Amino acid sequence: MAKVCIICEQVVTHGKRVEDDIVIQGIRRAKQALHIAKNNELMVCDNCVDAYAKKREKYEKNLVMHVIIASLVLLAFILLPLFTSGFSLWSLVLGALLAVLIMALSTFSHTPRVEGWKGPRLGAMPQEVKKPEEKKLKKEEKRKRK
Ligand SMILES: [Zn+2]
Repeated sequence: MAKVCIICEQVVTHGKRVEDDIVIQGIRRAKQALHIAKNNELMVCDNCVDAYAKKREKYEKNLVMHVIIASLVLLAFILLPLFTSGFSLWSLVLGALLAVLIMALSTFSHTPRVEGWKGPRLGAMPQEVKKPEEKKLKKEEKRKRK
């Protein structure tokens, strides 16, 4: 089984392993069914870590947007008939189909998680600095109450 970087698409020896998720499993099954599966082990090589982080961050934001839009569409298709002709099963089904379609669109920019990925923002937030401040504030609040 060759190790292939998902960013530069080269065969690599070192890197972070990509975790299998629902999208990767789906693509793999589809490829196996079509007999075009290469069964490569997906990696992110050391040179592509920065590019991967940017791509993954973008994908995460993108995914949140798709979830919000899909929820709004579904909600609209359930609620709107209630104001006009009453509950409509057809409208509910149509809304659900549209919501699924919107979620499916997000897979075009799909960037899977790699092992140990906790999101790019974690490094930008120094938690050690925040915590002592919170403790101080709580102490001050207690003093005020007394
Ligand atoms: Zn690479």
